[in-house]
Amino acid sequence: ATASEDKDLVIIGGGVAGYVAAIKAGQEGLKVTCIEKRGTLGGTCLNVGCIPSKSLLNNSHLYHQILHDTRHRGIEVSDVKLNLANFMKAKDTAVNGLTKGVEFLLKKNGVEYIKGEGTFVNENEIKVALNDGGEATVRGKNILIATGSEATPFPGLEIDEKRVVTSTGALSLEKIPETLVVVGGGIIGLEMASVWSRLGSKVTVVEFLGQIGGPGMDNEIAKSTLKLLKKQGIEFKLNTKVISGDTSSEKVKLEVDSAKGGKPESLDAEVVLVAIGRRPYTANLGLENIAMELDERGRVIIDSEYRTKIPHIRCVGDATFGPMLAHKAEEEAVAVVEYIKKGYGHVNYGAIPSVMYTHPEVAWVGQTEQDLKAQSIPYRVGTFPFSANSRAKTNLDTDGIVKMIADPETDRLLGVHIIGPNAGEMIAEGTLALEYGASTEDIARTCHAHPTLAEAFKEAAMATHAKAIHF
Ligand code: FAD
Ligand code: NAD
Repeated sequence: ATASEDKDLVIIGGGVAGYVAAIKAGQEGLKVTCIEKRGTLGGTCLNVGCIPSKSLLNNSHLYHQILHDTRHRGIEVSDVKLNLANFMKAKDTAVNGLTKGVEFLLKKNGVEYIKGEGTFVNENEIKVALNDGGEATVRGKNILIATGSEATPFPGLEIDEKRVVTSTGALSLEKIPETLVVVGGGIIGLEMASVWSRLGSKVTVVEFLGQIGGPGMDNEIAKSTLKLLKKQGIEFKLNTKVISGDTSSEKVKLEVDSAKGGKPESLDAEVVLVAIGRRPYTANLGLENIAMELDERGRVIIDSEYRTKIPHIRCVGDATFGPMLAHKAEEEAVAVVEYIKKGYGHVNYGAIPSVMYTHPEVAWVGQTEQDLKAQSIPYRVGTFPFSANSRAKTNLDTDGIVKMIADPETDRLLGVHIIGPNAGEMIAEGTLALEYGASTEDIARTCHAHPTLAEAFKEAAMATHAKAIHF
C-alpha cells in the first residue's frame, strides 16, 4: 500500500451524509476523497431505502386505485394486471438513474471516489480494501464518518432476505406473498405493509406498543392513521410482542404474546418482515484502532460541531445521534463542511420534518401535543378536515386533517401534524413557517391559491387563532 498526499477531507461512506458532504466540500475548494464499499453511491436511501420504497409506494397506489377507485369516477377499466418483474424494473430504473447522477455530481465537483471498504489504521490514515481487489491508503487532515445504519435484527429470527426479510428484502420480493407478517408498526413497517397489501397480500402488523407510527407521531394522528389503514384491509395486533420464530416448515411460524401478559398465539406467514428499528453501522471501521467511543446504542459520540473526541474526526447522519432521516443527514453534511471550512454551521433540530408515505400520507414537524403536555407547556390547537376542502372533495380524496399547535399567548407556531393527501409536500410550508417563527395568524393572512389542498393548511391556521371559514 502506498500513502497518497494528505487530503483536506476523507469521507467514509457515500450515503446521503457522505456524498452531500463530498459535493459541498468540493464546492468549497477542499481536496476530498469519498470511500464507499457498496459499489454505488447514495447509501441506504438511494439503493435500498427512500427511493425504491417510494417507487413501490407510488406504483402500488396507482395499481390499487385503478383496481378499486375508478368506477365511481366514471372510468371503466378491465383486464388490469400486475407484472411484478416490470414493477420492480421501474424501481430499479429510478434507483440506477439517481445513483449514477450522484456519481456524476462527485466528478463534477472534483471529488475522488474510491470503491472499497475503509478502516482506520490510526487517527490520520485509512486503509481501503478495494472492491476490485488490492488495497489503498488514504490520509486526511479531516476525516468524516458517514457509515450510516443497518436494520436491527430480531434475536432468534435469522434474516435470509427471502422468507424472513428486512426492508431490503421486502423491496425486492420475487412473488407477491399470500401472507405477510410485519414485526414493528413504525414507518418502515407501515410503508411496506401498504405496498404488499395493495398488491394483494394479507398483511398483519404486530406492534409491541399500543400505538403505531414509531417515535414522534402525534397520538391523535396515529389513531386516525390506524383507523384508515385498517379500512384498507391491513390487520393490526397492538400491544403484542413476538416471542420466537420458527422457519423449519413451509410457512414461517411466529409465537406472539400480549405485551401486557395474556394468551400466547401463533401466526403463520409466507414472509415475515422485521422492521423494529435501525442501528448505527460501524462494523469493520477499525474504531478500536483509534479508541473511538460509542454510546450504549452504538452511536458515535459527537459534540455540537459533529466532532468526536478526536477533534479532526467528525461524524454525521445515521451513525450518530438524531432522527434517522435522509434530509437530516443532508443538513448535517452541509453544516459539518461549513464547520471544517469556516468554523460555523447550522442545523435547526426543532424543524426537521417527518413524512410517512402511506395513503393518505402522514407528515409532521415541531412539537406534538403529547410532548407539550409532558413538559407542562401551554398550547392551543386548531384543526381543519380535508372533507371540508374543495380540492380534496373534487379529487374524491377527503380522509384526514391538518392540525396546528401554537403558543396561546404569542400565537407562535409550535407544531404541525397532517394526515391527508399530499401531506408530505404540504409539511414544507409548516417547516418554513416554523423556521421563520411565524404565528398562525401570519399563515392565515397569507393568500393560498384556490382550489388547492394547501387551503386546508391556511384554514387550520385560522382555526388555531380564530375561526376557519369553511368548517
Ligand atoms: P447510509 O445511507 O446508510 O449510508 C452509509 C453508507 O456508508 C453505505 O452506503 C455503506 O455501504 C457505507 N459504508 C459503511 N461502512 C463503510 C466503510 N467502512 N467503508 C466504506 N463505506 C462504508 N429517510 C427519509 O428521510 N425519507 C424516506 O422516505 C426514507 N425511507 C427509508 C426507507 C427505508 C426502507 C429505509 C431502510 C430507510 C429510509 N430512510 C428514509 C432513512 C434513510 O435511508 C437514512 O436516514 C439515510 O440513508 C442516512 O444516510 P447516511 O448517509 O447517514 O447513511
Ligand atoms: P421505527 O423506530 O420507526 O419503528 C419500529 C417500531 O417497531 C416501533 O413502533 C416499535 O415500538 C416496534 N417494535 C420494536 N421492537 C418490537 C418487537 N420486538 N415487536 C414488535 N414491535 C416492535 O423503525 P423502522 O420503522 O424500522 O424505521 C427505521 C428508521 O428508518 C426510522 O428511524 C425511520 O425514521 C427511517 N425511515 C424513514 C422513512 C420515512 O421517512 N418515510 C421510511 C422508512 C424508514
